[in-house]
Amino acid sequence: MDVARCVAPVECAGCGMPDVPLCQDCASAWWEPPLRCEEGAPRLMVGDEALLPVWAIAPLTGEVHEVIAAWKDAGRRDLDRVMQAGMERLAGAVAPAADLVVPVPSRPGASRRRGADLTWALARGAARALPGARPMRGLRLGAGESRGASARQRWRAAQGAIGVRGELKGRVLLVDDVVTTGATLAACSLALSEHHAEVVGALVLACA
Ligand SMILES: [Zn+2]
Repeated sequence: MDVARCVAPVECAGCGMPDVPLCQDCASAWWEPPLRCEEGAPRLMVGDEALLPVWAIAPLTGEVHEVIAAWKDAGRRDLDRVMQAGMERLAGAVAPAADLVVPVPSRPGASRRRGADLTWALARGAARALPGARPMRGLRLGAGESRGASARQRWRAAQGAIGVRGELKGRVLLVDDVVTTGATLAACSLALSEHHAEVVGALVLACA
């Protein structure tokens, strides 16, 4: 007998259908052909040129949006494997050759609340499909080094900053859950480029 099921009834994260974590209809969106989506993310565009190519499994609409929200914010750890498998398939289908698969860093508070570092899980999923690539937590939040600034200015700088940790060399594939404006991916890409890593692209679950 499935004890967890008695305590908390399972329902489809997309549409609420009882007794399944993800019903077939809602799961089907994750099996569509991948999308290229950097041109829909204004912060990734410099004039007509994109900073990097971005691929998504699906548009961030309807059930896909519901599923990602349930996974991120409603504690649906039972979807971790679905999300990882989706990322693995996406990487296998479209990702350029890479040496490192680096997740966009999660806020420590968010990882604690969720009981998992979700972008790290996605990066590990993607790396499974890429021979020769390994996942690495190569970025962190809060890099702002601004000596001489006031404590408040330093704090503010650190909130938005992305820093590189460790030795990051070679071709880097970024991984995030969703892309909307592209500001976060742009900041990550910039930080990596400043450390002479070559950013070959980014994979996300969904794009707005
Ligand atoms: Zn459903």
